[in-house]
Amino acid sequence: MNSQHTKFLLNDTDLPKQWYNIAGDVPEVITPVLHPQTLELVTPDFLNVLFPMELIMQEISTDRYIDIPEEVREVYKLYRPTPLIRARRLEKALGTPAHIYYKYEGVSPSGSHKPNTAIAQAYYNKKEGTKALTTETGAGQWGSALSLAGSFFGMPVEVYMVRVSYDLKPYRRVLMESFGAEVYPSPTERTEYGRSLLAADPDNPGSLGIAISEAVEAAVRSNGEKKYSLGSVLNHVLTHQSVIGEEALKQMDLAGEYPDVVIGCVGGGSNFAGIAYPFLRENLREGRQTRLVAVEPTATPTLTKGLYTFDYGDTARMAPILKMFTLGHSFIPAPIHAGGLRYHGMAPSLCRLYDQGYIEAVAVPQVPTFEAALQFTRAEGILPAPESAHAIRAAIDEALDAKEKGEERVILFNLSGHGNFDLSSYQLYLAGKLENYAYPEEKIRAALKELPQVQMAPAAAD
Ligand SMILES: *Cc1c(COP(=O)(O)O)cnc(C)c1O
Repeated sequence: MNSQHTKFLLNDTDLPKQWYNIAGDVPEVITPVLHPQTLELVTPDFLNVLFPMELIMQEISTDRYIDIPEEVREVYKLYRPTPLIRARRLEKALGTPAHIYYKYEGVSPSGSHKPNTAIAQAYYNKKEGTKALTTETGAGQWGSALSLAGSFFGMPVEVYMVRVSYDLKPYRRVLMESFGAEVYPSPTERTEYGRSLLAADPDNPGSLGIAISEAVEAAVRSNGEKKYSLGSVLNHVLTHQSVIGEEALKQMDLAGEYPDVVIGCVGGGSNFAGIAYPFLRENLREGRQTRLVAVEPTATPTLTKGLYTFDYGDTARMAPILKMFTLGHSFIPAPIHAGGLRYHGMAPSLCRLYDQGYIEAVAVPQVPTFEAALQFTRAEGILPAPESAHAIRAAIDEALDAKEKGEERVILFNLSGHGNFDLSSYQLYLAGKLENYAYPEEKIRAALKELPQVQMAPAAAD
């Protein structure tokens, strides 16, 4: 075996030809999606206002595998297969007998795993005649990924960017505009919802929930010309991300090892699902017993402290209602620096699997997360995205636990992106100015009082 190697690389020809859909093995992950006004099951027609038909079919598909269109594979080849790296220097620094591997998604042109779905979504929209895409972005990772994908398929992209990020983090905006996208600070004057918020408070700083509402409204009011694109949470997004885990399975094989634990950070759940679901398939079908650990911030403890129920996908209650662990759609998280992990909900499929005990979850505080990030940087050389640093924190904790128990545990984590656009966060950390936020119990309790009152027959609600 290649026990002396550090990098495990695949060729263009090893790029997966199919995405893996977890619903093919666990059909219960497909849970009801409700209309935000009627609270009844949504129809494909309603969803078709927002998404192209092909993505709606993928959303409810129970086919185990879905062919990746050749046009999408061609674009994937610009950066995929991504490397799998053994963190030998980190192992040494920790003095652990554990073997630590990471899959590095930061090599994509926008610096994270998000193009894996953005490229597919832009392709299907183009194929079905969509004239432009609308979307939201917080810190800018998703907006950059969709702008990149739009530029490849000749698809204009309209990005509603949370105003505080637009003002404080101009570089991601410049990247999106370089790819040819239009970027607006949200709330904007372009939507009814945005205008209503600005009338009440011209200095409204915006939030991800508000930006989602504006992007959805812009698509709904476009007479079918524009559609909306979401970078996480939905089944089809998680399915597109499965290329991460499929490649990692082949690469672990090259390394001659198999992971005892697979770790990923969770915001909406897509990069975690991307690396973990193919390993879950091996647990279910091949009798493997890999532990799958989702890592979230203690400031937005969706899985570890949220309620498993129906809630709106956005703040303005315009997006469909999903069954998920939620902190309440009106919950406004503390301003942690991992902007991509501040969503109030979580992918319904991941919630179902967590509820059923297929996966585990842990929450980690901000300061120890940045500590882990720099420990990783100083050993391995890559500055991680603050989101990805949550996975590193948990991986280091696993490695230290293995050290205490004298176990040669094999740990695999997903390094979902680099932090080269997040230097202001690192600047604050290095100056000792980052804080830990306690578990926001009161705020969550208040937000959970505003859940939709869904009445459903127990069988349907299940
Ligand atoms: C957006 C983002 C995340 C969180 O989103 P998921 O859908 O949970 O993966 C994590 N890491 C990076 C680098 C991101 O850009």
